Order: sequence, then structure tokens, then C-alpha cells
Amino acid sequence: MATDPVCKMNVEPNKAAAKVDYAGQVYYFCSESCHKAFTAEPQKYAGSSPHGGGSHHHGHQ
Ligand SMILES: [Zn+2]
Repeated sequence: MATDPVCKMNVEPNKAAAKVDYAGQVYYFCSESCHKAFTAEPQKYAGSSPHGGGSHHHGHQ
């Protein structure tokens, strides 16, 4: 299972509407509109962290 970097939804590679090879990684898209959004600004979507959640550290000790 791959993740559409534009809308963050899960995409099955064999059912993806589009596929892009960018910076050595392959990205799959649920629809042509997500694909276009990515190709317009790939660095905007590809630059996000793979974990997505970010560090949620609270200073509790
Ligand atoms: Zn999408």
C-alpha cells in the first residue's frame, strides 16, 4: 500500500490513477487531479516527513 502525498489517502499501486518518479522515490496518486497538483509543486508534497504525525513532545517529566 502506498500513500497519495497530496491527499494522504491510501492508494494501491496497481489501482493508482497515476504514478510519478521523483527524487528517487515513486509516488502513487488516487486521481489525476492529485497527480497534477503534485507535478505542479512536487517539493511541496515530497518534502513532508514520512511519519506524518510529527513529534508531539510535551515537556512533562
Ligand atoms: Zn489523492
